[in-house]
Amino acid sequence: MDAAQKRVFVRVDFNVPMEEKDGKMVINDSTRIKETLPTLRLLISRGAKIILAAHLGRPKGKREPSMSLQPVATLLAQMLGRPVAFVDDCIGEKVAAAVAALKAGDVLLLENVRYYNQEEANDPAFAEKLAAVADVYVNDAFGAAHRAHASTEGVARVIARRGGQCAAGLLMERELQFLGKELESPARPFVVILGGAKVSDKIKVIDRLLEKADAILIGGAMVYTFELALGHKVGKSLSEPDKKDVALAALAKAKARSIKFMLPSDDVLATAVATGKLNKKGKPVMEFQNVRPHACGDIPDNEAGYDIGPETARRYGEIIRNAKTILWNGPMGMFEDKRFAAGTLAVAQAVADATARNGAKSIIGGGDSVKALNQAGLADKVTFMSTGGGASLEFLEGQVLPGVAALTDKL
Ligand code: ADP
Ligand code: MG
Repeated sequence: MDAAQKRVFVRVDFNVPMEEKDGKMVINDSTRIKETLPTLRLLISRGAKIILAAHLGRPKGKREPSMSLQPVATLLAQMLGRPVAFVDDCIGEKVAAAVAALKAGDVLLLENVRYYNQEEANDPAFAEKLAAVADVYVNDAFGAAHRAHASTEGVARVIARRGGQCAAGLLMERELQFLGKELESPARPFVVILGGAKVSDKIKVIDRLLEKADAILIGGAMVYTFELALGHKVGKSLSEPDKKDVALAALAKAKARSIKFMLPSDDVLATAVATGKLNKKGKPVMEFQNVRPHACGDIPDNEAGYDIGPETARRYGEIIRNAKTILWNGPMGMFEDKRFAAGTLAVAQAVADATARNGAKSIIGGGDSVKALNQAGLADKVTFMSTGGGASLEFLEGQVLPGVAALTDKL
């Protein structure tokens, strides 16, 4: 892409967690900003005039002051070591004036695109207004690429129609490489670890990976839908009784293809007791009593499974340590509670070991899986961690992401 002196509209993922402190919004975690720096530095070095667009939270079409991107502009300027201009709108005359003032290598951040309902509606007229100030388009917001919104898809189409180039940013490029190309012809054994809350969330991924993987290791609450399907009692474990057929179909497909499809042989049970208190989100706070290891099979009516057990962790660990390619999506248990984090930690350690000692490529997708790896302090011991929660799942399902489809040029 020829970016010199060009007005480059860059869609970034600046949807950072914020918190109010002394009447001011402060950024709790700047990872997402940091991850866009390589793309921004490259564009700066090429003398582009950079116009950054992003969303923050869910203001639902209103100018919600707590969801302003202004604090991001301040922090980004510090991180880049150069000024970042900010304009408190994303379309209109103010934006046009701010863009007209840009010189080669300058950076301008627009206000939250979701202050307008037309953003999520992918309104063509709104996309035209966004595109009015730009010559070319770069999308580095993988986490938003599964949504066809005006700033992720509409603008690209307007610019492409005018003959302008549209390219993936460096971060987006890496996501597409690791979640896409690397998994097309993986070095073997290719081991997939799937966990998390629901079979229904991941069934399309399971189905697709059954065609590529050598082994699939199942953990998390989704275990209990498989257990139900196999005729076991699961007590109060999180499960989806209406997805039993889906679980059985996956087991049958694995058998037909001679893929090692593993379910836990032991787990960790507890009895959840309501404390009568509510958390910040208004949900009842539970207390977990009588935490105990258990060999898989029937679970008593008043208990539930919250983690894989030590024997399963060891068996899974052995397979993982021999892998050459690893894809991990979904924690092995309710890792947010220390007592149910051991399975996830053991798997994280095995993934790190395989990467360091066996030369495995390890790829982590899913918001909570990334959180778990950070919690384990092993984030820099894996090959790649995806920045897109929902987007990485949809991409792994084999879907064409609308925000990616439009990017036909190279940066
Ligand atoms: P990801 O974001 O990595 O795709 P998911 O969102 O599918 O993962 O699942 C993560 C959530 O699943 C976590 O909040 C975790 O507490 C929960 N979870 C995992 N195992 C269990 C279990 N056995 N019982 C209840 N919740 C579980
Ligand atoms: Mg999640």
